[in-house]
Amino acid sequence: MADLTAFAQSNTAVRIRTAASRGTLSHALIFSGAGDRVSAARYAAAGFVCTAEGDRPCLACAHCRKVMADIHPDVSYVRDPEHKELSAETIRAMRSDTFIRPNEAERKVYLFEDCSILNERDQNILLKTIEEGPSYCAFLFCAENSAALLQTIRSRCVELKLGGTEDKAETDRTDAVELCRLSAKGNAASRAAFTAKLENGKRKRDELGTLFEDARLLFANALLVQYGGEIPPEDAQAAQGLAKYLASAKLLRMIELLDTYRRHCDYNVGVGPTLGGFAVEWENALK
Ligand SMILES: [Zn+2]
Repeated sequence: MADLTAFAQSNTAVRIRTAASRGTLSHALIFSGAGDRVSAARYAAAGFVCTAEGDRPCLACAHCRKVMADIHPDVSYVRDPEHKELSAETIRAMRSDTFIRPNEAERKVYLFEDCSILNERDQNILLKTIEEGPSYCAFLFCAENSAALLQTIRSRCVELKLGGTEDKAETDRTDAVELCRLSAKGNAASRAAFTAKLENGKRKRDELGTLFEDARLLFANALLVQYGGEIPPEDAQAAQGLAKYLASAKLLRMIELLDTYRRHCDYNVGVGPTLGGFAVEWENALK
């Protein structure tokens, strides 16, 4: 039985849940990228058939549990283990099946775990089904690279990329917000502890680049607050804290510093020396 509770914490899951609960989840989805594509597709399948009153999927109702156990009669995995490519019969049988109303749920879901088995002929049959099939049908495609699907299919799907920076955005931003908080209210010791923590956390160069960029945007928004401009609500708390405690000259110095170090991360520099240099200049910028 698939345990989807860990996946339910990810940003992609939040996106699926919000749309599924509102009934606005697209009936054709592509799950691409290096993350756990099949779990994401299962989660979305549960979102379509879940009967919970609140958030969907709830992962607790009979429908959700059947999806996780792979025994829901209205969620089909389109496979053809006998062949390298999906046979014409399999895809035609699937097409005929779409015209039979769902058994137990409101919706009927077809899940393709590996789109590399779909040849052009299959995809052209599918295209018609996605476009003209009954409105209760939903199609979920998993492919590391969405280019495995024809452009005509891709243009009718919503693509959700997994395992990329989008999915990691939440944790990365926590560090950026912390960097801002320590700039506004911390002292030299707490800032040194923070850079040491980043270094011990074995951050990768591109993660560090994202952190500097996220922090730079928050500082830029703090400057905007001081000028009376409007900023995105999700940045308000961090930016207002900075705007309150740091003069605009310091904000400007930090924006420049973060920009310089973000660009450092584009080159092949070591994370340790980068953080060491940043720690020194960070203190200077706040003097
Ligand atoms: Zn449910």
